[in-house]
Amino acid sequence: MSTTQATILIVDDIAANRLVLERMVRARGHLSVSAENGRAALDLMQVQSFDMVLLDIMMPEMNGYDVLEELKEHPTLQHVPVVVVSALNDVESVARCILLGAVDYLFKPVDRTLLAARIETCLVRKRLHDREQAAYRAVHEANQAKSEFISLVSHELKNPLTAILGYADMLRHGTFGPIVDEQALYLSTISEIVGYMGTILSDLSDLSQIEVGHLRLQHTPTLLSDVATVALKSVQRTVLEKEQSVYIAIPTDLPPLWADPIRVRQILTNLLSNASKYTPMGGSITLSAHNTEANMIEIAVSDTGIGISAADQGHIFKKFFRSSDSAVRQERGTGLGLNITQLLVESHGGKIWFESVVDEGTTFYLTLPIAERKLAVSAPLSAVMV
Ligand code: ADP
Repeated sequence: MSTTQATILIVDDIAANRLVLERMVRARGHLSVSAENGRAALDLMQVQSFDMVLLDIMMPEMNGYDVLEELKEHPTLQHVPVVVVSALNDVESVARCILLGAVDYLFKPVDRTLLAARIETCLVRKRLHDREQAAYRAVHEANQAKSEFISLVSHELKNPLTAILGYADMLRHGTFGPIVDEQALYLSTISEIVGYMGTILSDLSDLSQIEVGHLRLQHTPTLLSDVATVALKSVQRTVLEKEQSVYIAIPTDLPPLWADPIRVRQILTNLLSNASKYTPMGGSITLSAHNTEANMIEIAVSDTGIGISAADQGHIFKKFFRSSDSAVRQERGTGLGLNITQLLVESHGGKIWFESVVDEGTTFYLTLPIAERKLAVSAPLSAVMV
């Protein structure tokens, strides 16, 4: 007799057959529930959980093949093991049942010992599957809890950081009295470091929001040139410090994007900031765009920088990945920017990819949907140099 009690569904249109199986099942210490045909069995499975099914094939109303077919497609019931118990003893019927997902096949009249062995193997298999599912659910819940915790902590830390930044700026600008040059220098270092901490918190908060599915995009017709101008401003300081040239080549009649402007700005800021960080003094950065035949706008951000080695190319969209190249390590970064950028592009229904040659430069390409159907025309380019 089995040590753990299972509930087994017996499906057969003939009462005498059901009775035989019910007796055998109960003799093994298990519980049995019976159904007269396939439809009744599936209805029962919707409301009660079974550890396995013993299924006849030839039944009125709904036969065993149809039951197997429906179970195969069912998201939660497809893992319940089904053993076919049938008088059909030709190879084709057995093969058909196995192909439809039955785990085993027994011929009528059923041999008591064989049935007992099949039941035990099915139950071991079912329990393993249930345990796997429980472990998966536990990991998923722990991951959700971690993401929610990160989201909460980064949100709570943003306010004190904003206050520190505000006070440091007021001190630096002499609001509370004159300060000497050295004090001004330290205060601007405080502002810079606190600003960087804010960026890390925003990245962590964005990532956790995306992971728990809380990121809501506010789609609206969005002009790429407007967003690009704002994104450029946020990298202007590094660009000027490194004496880099920035070219914007956006056709003046480019149709608006169907996108969340705040997120598009974030995407462009990440790509432009990387282009500037990983391009040496005096290099150049170009942002260009055109619309494709598939009603998408393709945007390219290219630089004349250090490039990405073949070994690193397969990793750069992974969370926390940073190249071990010393030119990368001397720049600040969390390794989250491209991961978030990819998630944001994809959540708009677009794609992102890149081409790169070491010591020559890198181009990131991305597509975003357009807000209105508009034919591509050979358009004049507005070229701006910063
Ligand atoms: P980080 O905070 O390190 O910049 P990202 O996720 O934005 O993180 O980028 C991941 C890594 O990809 C970088 O650390 C760098 O190694 C590489 N990378 C990204 N953009 C460029 C680029 N334009 N040129 C060269 N390497 C790049």
